[in-house]
Amino acid sequence: MTNTVVIDLFLGDSGKGKIVDYLAQTHKAVVRFSGANNAGHTLSIDGREYKTHAIPSGVLYPHTTNYIAHGCTIDPFVLVDEISTFSNLNSEVYISGQAHVILPRHVRLDKMNEERFNIGSTKRGVAPAYAAKTGRYGMRYEDFFLERPQFSTAMEKRFLTDPFYSEQDYLNVYDTVRDKLIPHIIKDGVAFMHSLLDTGSVLFEGAQGCFLDVDVGDYPYVTSSNCTIGAVLTGTGANHKDLNEIVGVVKAYGSYVGTNVDFNDLEEELNDKLSSLGQEFGATTGRRRRLCWLELDKIKKAVRINGPTKLVVTRMDTLGQLPKICIRYKGELVEFEPWGDLSNVNSIENLPQSARNFISFIEQQTEVPVWAIGVGPERKDLLLK
Ligand code: GDP
Ligand code: MG
Repeated sequence: MTNTVVIDLFLGDSGKGKIVDYLAQTHKAVVRFSGANNAGHTLSIDGREYKTHAIPSGVLYPHTTNYIAHGCTIDPFVLVDEISTFSNLNSEVYISGQAHVILPRHVRLDKMNEERFNIGSTKRGVAPAYAAKTGRYGMRYEDFFLERPQFSTAMEKRFLTDPFYSEQDYLNVYDTVRDKLIPHIIKDGVAFMHSLLDTGSVLFEGAQGCFLDVDVGDYPYVTSSNCTIGAVLTGTGANHKDLNEIVGVVKAYGSYVGTNVDFNDLEEELNDKLSSLGQEFGATTGRRRRLCWLELDKIKKAVRINGPTKLVVTRMDTLGQLPKICIRYKGELVEFEPWGDLSNVNSIENLPQSARNFISFIEQQTEVPVWAIGVGPERKDLLLK
């Protein structure tokens, strides 16, 4: 029995969802610990694609309990939609009563702020909802347990000083989704988390990536929450002794949507080629992603921050098809011979030498073993060491 964390060591969109889906086969519960429905995970199984934004990526198995812990802020309309999309799969979905609600007013404010600051927000209302949380006037899922008049009074008091306050906003949310959500809301989220941990088989699903973390990331071009290892504890009520394996996900190159000026963009031609090879468009917004070489200095920093026990390197098939392949390390570009298409490779031993050199270089410099290699989007496209 193992409790496992899956966490991204770079910039997100690395295929964490796919790794979580794979590992969920051997875990009883899958838990989201931070972030919001701005996360986007694409799962490809037997040619069919599923996208998750709010619900953990363990949802494709009937044996899993999927739990959104209090570290998350979630738009209730999105949650209701996703619960209904996946309801035929019969896996259980719960959300902590202490998780925060993204309200329509947060979405409006996010859109206005993005026009002013141009950070690269997904405009899903996430930052204003987290601001309300730390400002201590946020709405939590447990507020849905209140009867309508009590709910109305409680919200009115909380949003009194807020210029975007609109009674209709939260009453509309209450009237539209409350009844659908009540069976999924857990009164005492931490106690529920402890009961999941008592099974000894919990998979924690990270969102975004290390350098999008609001504290250790490239501020202000970051997300509004912590997405590094500490958030697993603060976002759920688990303690450090509960964590047995930390799987660090490293995409073979970097991808990012946003306006960070310090980003080492690939030259236009390579970016275009890799973009179309990898279909690099955001799962949440459809925006074209900016791409860069793997930055090993950053990965080493992320390893120091998160302490992974093993690594997964994804997208080796995509990168291999570029005419030029590099890793950026200590201010220089380390070049690797392009290894081509990997669609017929079904074991690590059969990987071309150059691809093995790429993996060995990461292992040697990070001093963390690579446990698996991604060679395609499908559940089966994972080579295990
Ligand atoms: P996440 O947010 O980290 O879960 O990643 P996304 O789902 O946003 O983006 C990853 C995309 O790459 C998805 O479309 C996956 O199906 C796909 N994917 C994951 N691993 C691999 C891989 O090793 N090779 C290829 N070609 N695609 C992959
Ligand atoms: Mg994603």
